[in-house]
Amino acid sequence: MSSAFKSCRSVLITGANRGLGLQIVESLVSGSFCPGKIIATARTPATAKELQRLAEKHSNIHIIPLDVVSEESIAKAAVEVDQIVQEDGLCCLINNAGINVIANFETVTAEKMLENFHTNSVAPLMITKAMLPMLKRAAARETGMGIHRAAVINMTSLLGSVELNWGERANNFKWYPYRTSKSALNMITRCMAVDLEADGILCMAIHPGWVRTDMGGQQAPLSTEESISSVLDVIGGLTEKDHGSFLHYTGL
Ligand code: NDP
Repeated sequence: MSSAFKSCRSVLITGANRGLGLQIVESLVSGSFCPGKIIATARTPATAKELQRLAEKHSNIHIIPLDVVSEESIAKAAVEVDQIVQEDGLCCLINNAGINVIANFETVTAEKMLENFHTNSVAPLMITKAMLPMLKRAAARETGMGIHRAAVINMTSLLGSVELNWGERANNFKWYPYRTSKSALNMITRCMAVDLEADGILCMAIHPGWVRTDMGGQQAPLSTEESISSVLDVIGGLTEKDHGSFLHYTGL
């Protein structure tokens, strides 16, 4: 893992109870350069057994409840995060929680679109807004751009790429709610990059590859360890040139 995590005082991960979110926590605590504080959020911490097991072994893991589609839950989480990070602020926010509401042209409904939009596009924006005071506080302590200062990382998908869903490269995943929610997340990332640049807060989106999780399915080529090891290398190496970017887990 990138040594940059050594100078990252705190990381917050949404949806850290399973899949890629849990792997981020696991890889961070088992790596040689662990951030000072890891704030692992879960919709229902009481059932997040794996995460609890990790937190028992590593005192720098703080588990807090966060349902990303609940305004009340976001506001409560922001208060807790503030208390955990104190004057150091929050160095790295990883908006990872996501859902895939599968629907094609025949089966898609307004409800399915809105459900997927709420979790995958609206929630990362609202969570970033709620955490902004803490991100700004972290940014005010350093110079340059990257996770040593303050960064917002949005977990996106190549399936959100408008360019790739065409001609020979169009594929069978005709999922209206998921694909459009990730396209929207990409634009939200870009808009936030414009808005938060003056504060020195880096914003970018990353595609983790196709990974074996509940969402990715067992036929996916990558294990969570393989994906997240590369994802953390990319995140650790982010600088000014990556502000507003959409990177693949390989860093390209
Ligand atoms: P999983 O389905 O394995 O896990 C999803 C996570 O999101 C769970 O922790 C889940 O919590 C959480 N979550 C969903 N809704 C909410 C909510 N309302 N509040 C809080 N947490 C919530 O997915 P992955 O780990 O595979 O995916 C993680 C991210 O990576 C997603 O954004 C996904 O779109 C993206 N991605 C994944 C790919 C893959 O191949 N796996 C490929 C490209 C992108 P709970 O257990 O409570 O439901």
